[in-house]
Amino acid sequence: MTPIECLSKVGSECDDGTAGRSVYLTFDDGPDPLCTTEVLNVLAEQRVPATFCVIGAYAADQPQLIQRMIAEGHEVANHTMNHPDLSRCGPGEVHRELFEANRTIRMACPQAPIRHMRAPYGVWTEQVLTTSASAGLAPLHWSVDPRDWSRPGIDAIVDAVLASVQPGAIVLLHDGCPPDELGQSIHSGLRDQTVMALSRLIPALHERGFVIRPLPQQY
Ligand SMILES: [Zn+2]
Repeated sequence: MTPIECLSKVGSECDDGTAGRSVYLTFDDGPDPLCTTEVLNVLAEQRVPATFCVIGAYAADQPQLIQRMIAEGHEVANHTMNHPDLSRCGPGEVHRELFEANRTIRMACPQAPIRHMRAPYGVWTEQVLTTSASAGLAPLHWSVDPRDWSRPGIDAIVDAVLASVQPGAIVLLHDGCPPDELGQSIHSGLRDQTVMALSRLIPALHERGFVIRPLPQQY
């Protein structure tokens, strides 16, 4: 199973009829009280929408951030309850990871439409795709990965996106850190490079004629 069978890029025929230069921003591994708030502030200042692939266990602790995402016109997607590598989970565990995360998001924000699921580490299996479908979730991958989580520097993040972005691109960024990696980093300032890069990236994309849009409803 390859990511090719998941949505990694939006085709022009599915581009909400606007054709042209749409790109889509996605943020994984939040919500985090500090980083997600900063990302939301930048998105609000620059008036662009994004999709947040949230970890259910974090969403349970930060319901107000889920509510803010929805109130400000962003999409909330399912990134499992605890962020395991789902290829190492049995069918029951895959089911629990997806359905519990859906329940948690809905508990935080009952009106949140949850349309997409992103597998942790981008690891897709038949089991994951089947279970996602049964939860009403479309698999969401990405086409542009600047590896912002590795903290390569603000310039490196911006340059990596601009070097590979194309119309329809889905850009992967991070507003949090999975539970099993938290101990390896100093938590405060964890995603400061991502936030700084984002505030430069949005105007740079606009200058190049790209329009940052919400993911289309159907494809
Ligand atoms: Zn993740």
